[in-house]
Amino acid sequence: MRKIEPWQNVFQNNYGVPEITLSHGTGVEVWDVEGNRYLDFLGGIATNILGHAHPEIIKAVSSQIAELSHISNLYAHLPGLELATRLKDLIGDPTARVFFCNSGAEANEAAIKLSRLTGRSKIVAAIGGFHGRTIGALSITGQEAKREPFEPLLDDIDFVAYGQLEAMRDVVSSETAMVIVEPIQGENGVVVPPQGYLSGLRDICDEHGALLAIDAVQTGMGRTGEWFGFEGEGIMPDVVTLAKGLGGGLPLGAMITLGKKAPAFKPGQHGSTFGGNPISCAAANAAIDYLITHSLLSKVRDHGIGIKTAVESMPGVIEVRGRGLLLGIVLQEPIAQKLIPIATSRGLLLNATNPHVIRLAPALVVTQEQIDEFVSLFGQSLAEAQRG
Ligand SMILES: *Cc1c(COP(=O)(O)O)cnc(C)c1O
Repeated sequence: MRKIEPWQNVFQNNYGVPEITLSHGTGVEVWDVEGNRYLDFLGGIATNILGHAHPEIIKAVSSQIAELSHISNLYAHLPGLELATRLKDLIGDPTARVFFCNSGAEANEAAIKLSRLTGRSKIVAAIGGFHGRTIGALSITGQEAKREPFEPLLDDIDFVAYGQLEAMRDVVSSETAMVIVEPIQGENGVVVPPQGYLSGLRDICDEHGALLAIDAVQTGMGRTGEWFGFEGEGIMPDVVTLAKGLGGGLPLGAMITLGKKAPAFKPGQHGSTFGGNPISCAAANAAIDYLITHSLLSKVRDHGIGIKTAVESMPGVIEVRGRGLLLGIVLQEPIAQKLIPIATSRGLLLNATNPHVIRLAPALVVTQEQIDEFVSLFGQSLAEAQRG
């Protein structure tokens, strides 16, 4: 093997130093370089919807890269056209128009720029919301600790309490270009707003001529048991952003405009060199195909209910919130960070979004057997973390 230096000698410390180095995986299982096996219940933070090394993704990516790799956006290609068509069909709006990029932050940057074309500049976002780390996306992220070291950020951003329509009504005005929220706040600990929140936001935005943008980066691509996570509210947003699961494990993001109210970019107004490249699009098409042909969305809903029922009865668990396979286990005691290494040592990969919440976002192909194994490993890990 070539020379390899330890993490801290070569990387910025923005992620801290990881405990383990992974080498390979299949489905929901991964192995580290020492040969230890883990059940991956974080799924690359909600990205690998078909798990690791899925045969359909391997096939799609391999045949695409053998045919045509990167060509820039000066030329059309079939995987991209096919994917945009599918997204339009899945959303169910014939006016849908797609812009592809590489990540969630970039999708939200596109939405921010697009909102400027309304002639207004104010944006309203939610406290606790997360929209990415680039300067624009960070400016609309409602988490002070992430924003503060990098101020000054964009002006004209207001943050209001998530899930509270009254708070939104007080702030949205005829100067508001866009309201942006997540259907479920993922990074903030899987916070679910009350039923009727998104449809209430739709009304408020319509009243003031503001765009309603839904950041479905984490909730999208079947994760909640719906394609995008806002369907249960019976609304159509003006803008939807996607990334994470979209590329089936490959980097891909999208900003989609819907309806007549959303402005449209003119030639030259926005772009991305790698955005919507043939390989990522081929992987996304394969992932969507697989979800549909295996009716995975209804399984995702059932699995979510099963995990909730099993985990909510454990001592020390207050509730399990979220939908489908985007779940937050709320703990009585602030021991989430302590639980993570314990779970890792027992062969279970999890993520703590804050001291009280463990987030689950496994691949959508997770099996009942693997869920049973998770429940057992999680129960043991939680008991050990509670003991001291
Ligand atoms: C992860 C996430 C983002 C940022 O995506 P990146 O690909 O990391 O830039 C934006 N919005 C939401 C809701 C997310 O969960």
